[in-house]
Amino acid sequence: MIKNIAKFSQIFLVALLLTACKAETAQAVSSDSEVSKPETPHGEVTKDTVVDQNEFNEAVKNAKPGDIIVMKNGVWNDFEMVFDAQGTKEKPITLTVEEKGKVIISGQSNLRLAGEHLIVSGLVFKNGYTPTKEVISFRRSKTELANNTRVTEVVIDHFNNPERFERDFWVMMYGKNNRFDHNHLEGKSNAGVTMAVRLNTEESQNNHHRIDHNYFGPRPILGSNGGETLRIGTSHFSLTDSYTVVENNYFDRCNGEVEIVSSKSGRNTFRGNVFFESQGTLTLRHGNDNLIENNVFLGNGVPHTGGFRVINKRQTIRNNYMHGLKGYRFGGALVVMNGVPNSPINRYHQVEDSIIENNSIIDSDHIEFGAGADSERSAPPITSSFKNNLVINRSAKDSIGVHDDISGIAFSNNVASGVTKLPVSTGFADQSIKLVKAANGLEYPSDPALAELGVSKSLTILDKKLTGASWYAKPDNASRFSGGKTIKVKAGEDTLTQAVAESSPGDVVELAAGNYSVSKIIQLPHAITIRGSGSDKTLIKYDRTTLFEIADGGSLKLDSLSVDGVDAPDAYGNSVVRTTRYSMLSNYELLVSDSKFIDLDKNHSFNFLKVASHTFASNIVIENSEFKDVSGHVIALEREIDDLGIYNAEYITVKNSRFENVGKTVANIYRGGTDESTFGPHLDFSGNTLINIGKNKRNKSKASIFLQGVQVASLKNNELKESTPITVVETVGDPITTVVNNKLVSTPETSIKVFVK
Ligand code: CA
Repeated sequence: MIKNIAKFSQIFLVALLLTACKAETAQAVSSDSEVSKPETPHGEVTKDTVVDQNEFNEAVKNAKPGDIIVMKNGVWNDFEMVFDAQGTKEKPITLTVEEKGKVIISGQSNLRLAGEHLIVSGLVFKNGYTPTKEVISFRRSKTELANNTRVTEVVIDHFNNPERFERDFWVMMYGKNNRFDHNHLEGKSNAGVTMAVRLNTEESQNNHHRIDHNYFGPRPILGSNGGETLRIGTSHFSLTDSYTVVENNYFDRCNGEVEIVSSKSGRNTFRGNVFFESQGTLTLRHGNDNLIENNVFLGNGVPHTGGFRVINKRQTIRNNYMHGLKGYRFGGALVVMNGVPNSPINRYHQVEDSIIENNSIIDSDHIEFGAGADSERSAPPITSSFKNNLVINRSAKDSIGVHDDISGIAFSNNVASGVTKLPVSTGFADQSIKLVKAANGLEYPSDPALAELGVSKSLTILDKKLTGASWYAKPDNASRFSGGKTIKVKAGEDTLTQAVAESSPGDVVELAAGNYSVSKIIQLPHAITIRGSGSDKTLIKYDRTTLFEIADGGSLKLDSLSVDGVDAPDAYGNSVVRTTRYSMLSNYELLVSDSKFIDLDKNHSFNFLKVASHTFASNIVIENSEFKDVSGHVIALEREIDDLGIYNAEYITVKNSRFENVGKTVANIYRGGTDESTFGPHLDFSGNTLINIGKNKRNKSKASIFLQGVQVASLKNNELKESTPITVVETVGDPITTVVNNKLVSTPETSIKVFVK
């Protein structure tokens, strides 16, 4: 270990040399060193650079208050780190890195903390996943917890278990008085809350943790429950106080599921956070006496962006700014729930003694009072107040929904502009308001008489740059299909295969006019665009069971070409595009335009798109295209048969396309179960022509389009001839099904079956 002394500052070096003679015992001898570490007198700090796992463990074992353990630059693979030590308030023990961003923890790795007054900084977890339930745990075992411990400037980047529904957690806070700040958490794609605060034993209750200045980066749609970004408590301990402060964090596109933050305990504070284009809400799900103030929600018109949802007693929500939020129902800009009388601990407690004041809700679609009212949730809000709020709509849907008796909410001094129907006749004035943008980037009424309403002039939008680790880049919002080069390809045998094999992410493969034959399955490990010269000019035939296979991380855009399935094997179950047969972590996109697919009828059950279970498309678009003679489904998204609320695609759009002689369905979309944690699936099916669809005896649904559990379905302006009916089965939540202006010729009426609880 003496070799590490070279890295000490001169001051340390002198201090250590002066005291080296006092060394009496060899404290720690590393495997490759004969030299003992000099003992330092009281008051000296030992800075110990460790180069491997053994040295790390020795250094932790011998750590004294004030010590600094420095991990050497490099990749530390398969390392289950345990940092269990006793620092003091004046002299914490620090675990840090030689250079920030240059110590990578990869493979099967994690970090467990136990003891007192520890500081961890500078680690980057990537290219691996935790073998246990957590990546960072503030406990070593059920009884050995960390207290007064700080984790700062640590990165966890796509550190996901490769099995999408193998549940784990990136950060679990236990103990008391811990701080988690300036960390960067990005791309949690498998099931499980990104970060949770646990209150499961007395040692973790009344914890006074602080979670601040973190960058909660994009969390893709999970397509199931279990995609929350932050949870504090659980329903079981929800009447216990947590006293956790969540402030000045940036939530960037945290889209995992309906709850971005789920507070399930008492006396938490959520202050000064930004929720940027994040789908879902900050939900006060369980627990009392929580405070939500000075937060900024920026929806920018993105679907399902929400604000906060209020349940329980003595909640205070004030001085929050909500702009451009499109969410509805439980996902609205401001949602006050109905409760269950004498509610069990895991259901909905009535809203009581709560205050909602001085919030600005601008250009947001939905505010809901008494949301969820039904025979079970029959207890409306009581002894609560709603005052000094501003609701301004210039282009939004401006709906204020009232679902039960709201006389238990005292409305006073609120002003609305551009809202068609106000929930009460007094306490909510309707007037035309002009907004001006202030230097802080927020909009305020120009009328000085309204200065006391809405958010204060001093509210600021947290700067993203002040969150996370300054030395670790935050992701941009570029399309996965952009930023690549164009590869020009001539017609011929496997010229397309070769071009894709040599492509990089975002590339465009441009096919000249002519005939292409493909003898191998074309693997798509990244996003790629394949563009022909027109569906009447560029023709592809292929000999394998599928033409394209989307691997984990892949996406495909097809444009202006034709595919003929005539050379596919004479065996059932062929496809044009399929996902890998295994679970996929990354959500993929499939975009098809101005293309033609014919002769997909070699043997039975030949689909255009065939997916495996536990794969998820964030977006499927088919437009201006033609499908003729298909023995299976065009789009089959029906692989999640366990009825656990899991499904295979979020947005499916089919527009202005023609389908003729399809044996099974044009679209079969299945989402089973009764869980309400997801927004999708969504289908937009419009302007299409369907002729002779769904009559194959293997078509179990006996429908031309079969939708089960789809949350938003719009079927407009389609023409169906000599086809089986459209069948919609509504099963969960508040599904929105719009079936308008479809022309049915020799086709039975659309069937909508409702099994919603
Ligand atoms: Ca949930």
